[in-house]
Amino acid sequence: MILRVALDVPVPKLFDYRAEDVTRADIGRRVVVPFGKKRLVGLIIDIAAESEVPASRLRVAETILREVAPLEREWLELVKFCSSYYHRPLGEVTAAALPPRLRAPGPVPDPPSEYALTQAGRDALAAIAPRARRLRALLTRLAAGAVSEADLRGDVRGARALLRRGVEAGWIVPIAVERPEPRFEGAHELTPEQREAVGSLRTQLKKFGVSLLFGVTGSGKTEIYLQLIAEVLAQRRQALVLVPEIALTPALENAFRARFPGACIVTQTSASPELERARGWLLAHRGAAHIVLGTRLAVFASLPRLGLVVVDEEQDISFKQRDGVRYSARDLAIARAQIAGVRVILCSATPSLESFHHASTGKYDLVSLTRRAIREAEMPEMRLIDTRVHSLRDGFSAPLLEAVSTRLARGEQSLVFLNRRGYAPVLACPACGWVKGCARCSAHMVVHLTEQRLRCHHCGLAESIPRACPECGNPDLQPFGRGTQRVELSLGEKFPEARILRLDSDAVRARSGLGDLLERATQADILVGTQILAKGHHFERLTLVGVLNADAGLFSSDYRASERSFAQLQQVSGRAGRANLPGEVLIQTRYPGHPLYQSLVKHDYPGFARSLLAERREAGFPPFVFEAVLRAESGEIARAMRFLRSAVERAPTRRASIVLYDPAPMSLARLAGVERAQALMQSRSRARLQEFLREWSDTLYRMPAQGVRWHLDVDPIEF
Ligand code: ADP
Ligand code: ZN
Ligand code: ZN
Repeated sequence: MILRVALDVPVPKLFDYRAEDVTRADIGRRVVVPFGKKRLVGLIIDIAAESEVPASRLRVAETILREVAPLEREWLELVKFCSSYYHRPLGEVTAAALPPRLRAPGPVPDPPSEYALTQAGRDALAAIAPRARRLRALLTRLAAGAVSEADLRGDVRGARALLRRGVEAGWIVPIAVERPEPRFEGAHELTPEQREAVGSLRTQLKKFGVSLLFGVTGSGKTEIYLQLIAEVLAQRRQALVLVPEIALTPALENAFRARFPGACIVTQTSASPELERARGWLLAHRGAAHIVLGTRLAVFASLPRLGLVVVDEEQDISFKQRDGVRYSARDLAIARAQIAGVRVILCSATPSLESFHHASTGKYDLVSLTRRAIREAEMPEMRLIDTRVHSLRDGFSAPLLEAVSTRLARGEQSLVFLNRRGYAPVLACPACGWVKGCARCSAHMVVHLTEQRLRCHHCGLAESIPRACPECGNPDLQPFGRGTQRVELSLGEKFPEARILRLDSDAVRARSGLGDLLERATQADILVGTQILAKGHHFERLTLVGVLNADAGLFSSDYRASERSFAQLQQVSGRAGRANLPGEVLIQTRYPGHPLYQSLVKHDYPGFARSLLAERREAGFPPFVFEAVLRAESGEIARAMRFLRSAVERAPTRRASIVLYDPAPMSLARLAGVERAQALMQSRSRARLQEFLREWSDTLYRMPAQGVRWHLDVDPIEF
């Protein structure tokens, strides 16, 4: 028999191997095969009687890994869809979809189990020498009842080795964890809007369909999907929940555990330790996990009894994978729900224009929540501060400073929001105009005063701060612009008695993670933060949000910038006044008349979204056209451009409905020493664009590489 195997190599085909004793039941299993001089783990996609490869050249598969049940048809359909839609070899997609541990030939990690003491173990405990203190501690702990390895390791030093010894001696036995039925606890009594939403969604769970759950921050969207998940679990099915931020998953996981006691909840993020990720993945694959919670890669969890998919903050760009297989987890979540024949719920207070458009044309079901769930928590009052009238000192207008001191006097909390970390975004020489750029990127280096370093926010390069201008020798180099560190320092001067805490990714790294920082944040009087603060946190005493530098997103060359800007401003505004204290949001801007701000202060996202959609329709941008880019990366821009030009020359000629633009360097042309250029294509028909890409990529794979790495990016978000 011939195995057709997907292997993680950049060749768009399956590889054939000979094998004996295989049946169709092995489709979806992993297999170890020789490849050149290496051994690779691949996935069996098909079994055939014969191969196009001559028998003399066919190699024999080494081992079929049968300890894991085969991946099911639905999962295989998902990766095949991903491969064909994003034009990446199936082997690369399956490799990206499986946890690293399952891509290697080693043994599969055991499911987490608990350990119990045998009678022999009890006898041993009675007879044990007092000197063997740790062994005694371990056996004593087990004598009180079954314990997981993780708990034992927390309690007894060297527990792992001791456990192994105990098991070998027959004193200790692993036992499968017995799980009680999952329960759902602490359900809120729903508001009328929520009740209506749950009521209508509940009846639609068993069929494919996309619902856009569009509700203002604090309207109780989470509560709605938790109740629907409870429903799904009661039907003995599994739920998949995708969230954008790795940093937020621990908090969310705890919230889920509190609400679903007894449920097996598995998290999948790229930050999870490999072993944990593989174990979690296997629990889901075996059908034991009730809920899989994770970031974009969790969309590939194997869920044989999938009953519901939720994508929270569906507009978030972190759902788009930026390298390797460049998939959108939101879009794959929809494909996945379709394959499984279940409902997918996209949640957002500021939906992506794509989803908003589909909801307004009726392709998606729209479920709207217009009020906050907690009755006392009204929407915050929004005010624009015209900085042409109120001049800025150290970045602050007088009304904002006043508002902060009022909060200080009342013992309430203020948040100063600025989406730029570091001390200053530019270091320049006022004498000759020299500006410090990154040696590896087409970007400026950012001054970080707390570490006395310059850092590139694109590639991470760090350098010490020069003492003088390398061009003219002027020792008086000036930091220009303002980042969170600088704002923190100015606030410290203005409010010396206030407890000020900076929350950005530098602070997260410097301390022991976001959780620790958020803990401290509840004590602070003034928080200075970037968008890591904007999402999902509740601060009881927070009643003022001040936004500095909001205009940055207004005039970007990226047509998605204003949509994102609105989302971010609304999200951060949502931090004000969540409990029973009314909130106020002050936004400093030079353009108070701009439609973005006018809609924002009225809490009118639909109005803003409609006006953006009209612009997009006019200008011929998504969602009214579909886009893809062919991107080339090389040490030299000329090479990348040359490759793209010859690729464009060889593009399929039948392309009435495709517009293919001339290649151009990307807006951030140089990144970490690599020059990047791309050719954009657009079409009003997704099907036509796909057809075109399919034909073109066949040609591209056959073109000589010319010292260039290339890839297609479908539905790109970077230009
Ligand atoms: P969203 O996800 O829409 O921003 P959440 O689901 O986080 O909103 O809800 C905001 C707050 O309101 C949470 O503290 C939540 O516990 C609370 N909440 C949600 N629904 C209700 C309800 N029906 N009654 C009382 N409190 C609720
Ligand atoms: Zn100079
Ligand atoms: Zn750089």
